Amino acid sequence: MTEKKLPFSKETLEKIIDTCPTPFHIYDEKAMRAYAKRFKQAFAWNEGFKEYYAIKAAPNPFLMKILREEGFGIDCSSIAELALAEKIGMSGDEIMFTSNDTPVYEYQKAVAMGAIINLDDISHIQYLEENIGLPELVCFRYNPGSLKEGNAIIGHPEEAKYGFTRSQLFEGYQMLLDKGVKRFGIHTMVASNELDPDYFAGTAQILFELIADLSKKLNINFEFANLGGGIGIPYKPDQSEVDLERMSRGIKANYDKYIIANGLKPLKLYFESGRAITGPYGYLVSKVLHIKDTYKKYAGLDSSMANLMRPALYGSYHHITVPGKESVTTKIMYDVTGSLCENNDKFAINRVLPKLSTGDIVVIHDTGAHGHSMGFNYNGKLRSAELLLREDGNVVEIRRAETLDDYFATLDFDQVPGFKV
Ligand SMILES: *Cc1c(COP(=O)(O)O)cnc(C)c1O
Repeated sequence: MTEKKLPFSKETLEKIIDTCPTPFHIYDEKAMRAYAKRFKQAFAWNEGFKEYYAIKAAPNPFLMKILREEGFGIDCSSIAELALAEKIGMSGDEIMFTSNDTPVYEYQKAVAMGAIINLDDISHIQYLEENIGLPELVCFRYNPGSLKEGNAIIGHPEEAKYGFTRSQLFEGYQMLLDKGVKRFGIHTMVASNELDPDYFAGTAQILFELIADLSKKLNINFEFANLGGGIGIPYKPDQSEVDLERMSRGIKANYDKYIIANGLKPLKLYFESGRAITGPYGYLVSKVLHIKDTYKKYAGLDSSMANLMRPALYGSYHHITVPGKESVTTKIMYDVTGSLCENNDKFAINRVLPKLSTGDIVVIHDTGAHGHSMGFNYNGKLRSAELLLREDGNVVEIRRAETLDDYFATLDFDQVPGFKV
């Protein structure tokens, strides 16, 4: 059970809204740092342990700066994400480049920055060699296929587009050896939003067994094993956070059994978790614009699925709190909607909430991952601001809201012949 509490009072929110109108996402620095510390602490037994924050969850350089201060690296998958890392001075093995279907200019940028290159396919060895040259250290992404059951969000590994098959790994590392590559890593990611800590121990077992096998057959040493992301978060009040200590113990047991007992060199463990790092520490703050009573009761907010797409895209549950109305006993069932001309633009369907009125502040929980970052401009919706609640209680704007000028910024009316307006 997780009690869905807010890190701010209604009065604090009202003060924030005075200077930054709704809607906006706000992130809780203190809670984010505390989780980052716990995550690192849980794996203190592993020398060289590193979490590479999957920046796609919330690609804001200010958040990344905070996480870097906590010792995290960055996991990038595109040139824009690499450029974001560059903007805050990250380089070298602070960066993991885990991409797929990758154009050469993105590999070029990643190699130029000294990032750890994680290849998604065996054909990319040649692609990289011919176009750029192979770096000293190369990592492959393993897809265990039917050896491992996936989970609901990511689906069955054998139907996933990612990674090498088992036999391609043997072939691929041999190719690297033949081409003079000296340093090796391995990666897998088979789950998304997984709440069972033992699932990750199972993934580690598969990867460690494979490392033992590859090391023996090819006579190579692995420097690291990247266990990917996929650590889930308790979106629903009746769910519990992943027990990091239990997860770590399970992984360590397999590490001892397959790495230590086989006499292999010490292996650094990496994660590239995104959702768990920022997800629970972000909130979408909105106001009720209209209450509508037709065949159903609707609470229309001043935000839309352009601010938070997950409920419409995956049917995801996001908890909703109405600050100041926590103890109101008159409850009503609403569809909580946005303003897009799409009937699936709903933050919640049949949600029982305190009786709402126009102007009420509504806070949607767990928007710190895949919230603002999945935003879009359909229907002319402008993306909101992002705010940071600092540890000292101050609030700073870490990204301003888009304006109409931003919306039209990619249009140059003078450039289109015969189209002067
Ligand atoms: C999305 C992604 C992650 C992060 O996943 P989370 O579920 O946010 O932890 C890590 N690695 C890769 C390759 C990804 O695509």
